[in-house]
Amino acid sequence: MDTTFATAAAPRKPLVHAANIAAHRMQLALATVAVALPTMATVLAFVLWLGYGIGFGPVEATLLAGFYALTIIGIGCGYHRLFTHQAYKTTTPVRVVLAILGSMASQGPVLFWCAIHRRHHNFADTDGDSHSPYFNKETRMNRLVGFWHAHTGWLFSTEVTDWGRYIPDLLKDRPIFRVNQLYFVWIALGLAIPAAIGGLVHGTLAGAGYGLLWGGLVRTFFVHHSTWCINSVCHVFGRRPFKINDEARNNWFVAILTFGEGWHNNHHAFPYAMSHRFKWYQYDPNGGIVKLLAKFGLAWDLRSPSAEAVREKLASAPAGHNAPG
Ligand SMILES: [Zn+2]
Ligand SMILES: [Zn+2]
Repeated sequence: MDTTFATAAAPRKPLVHAANIAAHRMQLALATVAVALPTMATVLAFVLWLGYGIGFGPVEATLLAGFYALTIIGIGCGYHRLFTHQAYKTTTPVRVVLAILGSMASQGPVLFWCAIHRRHHNFADTDGDSHSPYFNKETRMNRLVGFWHAHTGWLFSTEVTDWGRYIPDLLKDRPIFRVNQLYFVWIALGLAIPAAIGGLVHGTLAGAGYGLLWGGLVRTFFVHHSTWCINSVCHVFGRRPFKINDEARNNWFVAILTFGEGWHNNHHAFPYAMSHRFKWYQYDPNGGIVKLLAKFGLAWDLRSPSAEAVREKLASAPAGHNAPG
């Protein structure tokens, strides 16, 4: 099954429509809170730490790193490679855990995320792509505005992606549908658990506050921007070993931040590939985690292109180049 939903026969117009005004307002309010709250909390956390020397120590650093890793894995191994691209199969408990960890990243419920991302691959860097930096070619929109749109601005768009077209499989997936419905519970847990750990370790209410701040909100800020760099940075800066028909690029720095998702040119060339590592030096911990799950019998049917398919694609020229360049 071609999980990119990008077929030659696909119409070039996206199936999107304007939602009703109440839904728009709700979407805009949620996007505003999701972007603004972690940003303001991060400013506060750094002011407290660098200005007053309080609120950050080994406990908070551990909570930040630990919850960053868990939620980045939830997005990369779960939302992206498993649910969007079906790059491997795994057990229902592992699927649920990955969907919950991805939800804790506050990037939207799993079904919303996957629908948008399948649409991104379907229309990459053309009209219909939800978050291309080249979204407004007709008016030669300033590159900086395009970059902002790809990075964060698209979250405030009034478009709605047609779930019936893009995620029919996930709509029938009962456990994942249930995780999707409980989205705000997972976000609350993603904030409450580091707060509880901070409070328990320090034995004070302030300790809980610092845990919430660094393990919850500052972590969310960094996970947001690392992930969003894939849509912005990885469609503008980096190498394109595969001369595919869009602007996806390999960016080593974003690959480090996102545990391997930054090898985005590799990924757009072979969206179904479980591993994004095509050269020995390409750092891809998310791929390593799936291989580890497979070693323990918890993952199977890991998909990867043949060496011949990779060679062929490296040698082939694109049919046409969509983005301005
Ligand atoms: Zn992309
Ligand atoms: Zn993808």
